[in-house]
Amino acid sequence: MNSIHKILDTGIQKLKKGNISSSVLDAEIILSNILNIQKEDLILEKKIYVSNDEAERFYHLINRRLKKEPIAYVLNKKEFWNDNFFVNKNTLIPRPETELMVEKIINYSKDKILRILDIGTGSGCIIISLLKELKKSKGVGLDINSRALSVAKINLIKSKLSNRLRLVNRSIDDYNDTKFDIIVSNPPYIERNQIKNLMEDIKYYEPKSALDGGNDGLDVIKKVIYKSRTILKNKGLLAIEIGKGQDKKVSQILRNNKFREKFLIKDYQSNIRCILSILNF
Ligand code: GLN
Repeated sequence: MNSIHKILDTGIQKLKKGNISSSVLDAEIILSNILNIQKEDLILEKKIYVSNDEAERFYHLINRRLKKEPIAYVLNKKEFWNDNFFVNKNTLIPRPETELMVEKIINYSKDKILRILDIGTGSGCIIISLLKELKKSKGVGLDINSRALSVAKINLIKSKLSNRLRLVNRSIDDYNDTKFDIIVSNPPYIERNQIKNLMEDIKYYEPKSALDGGNDGLDVIKKVIYKSRTILKNKGLLAIEIGKGQDKKVSQILRNNKFREKFLIKDYQSNIRCILSILNF
């Protein structure tokens, strides 16, 4: 048996030595997960001891974090909207700016009966969060990567939305369904030659296919827009997440394809990161 504080402190020191800047927070998150208690309770739980087995698991996860593996992959979970999503290295880790897009779509769509398509669903975080709130709507989550889709499947089962959400393992190039009211996508949009400059956590662990947007970062964004023009209902909504500094170019592509801008969403650093537009033939 080991004292909770001693274990925690050893974990923190290991991470500090490994130059993990969030050492205290990360060690606390890992330990509270293993002990199945709230992080805030760690300091209060003076009487709790950590079994040898729990200590071993703790150090194992600390060692993974030491190699810069993102905490979401270490714990196989990430909070998004109102839920914890299962994640692993086959999917992008859900991001807070994507929640802003989800929020806007929910407010725009309240109480309507809609068919929603999520292109490149990854963990399924977007479409699952939307359908949980929009209880009369149905959706499809599309992903070219079958391993990512297996992750979405786990989240779908957890969410109990199987009667309203279908997951399809196909490329957007080969997908031609009847028309949707809303299409949403957080496509890969990083310029290929910028991937090497991303944080180590991201570039060594998150799937390249979820990040790489081709030479100008716009390859998949363009595909999503062109396809949406044919499978979105007239007056339907296209919500697309974009990279920093891509807004002018993407707006132009949208205008050229009969989309009219409805909302622009800025991230917490005031960059335009999501464009919601209406198809208007
Ligand atoms: N739709 C998923 C998300 O927003 C995955 C996106 C991606 O892989 N580019 O997290």
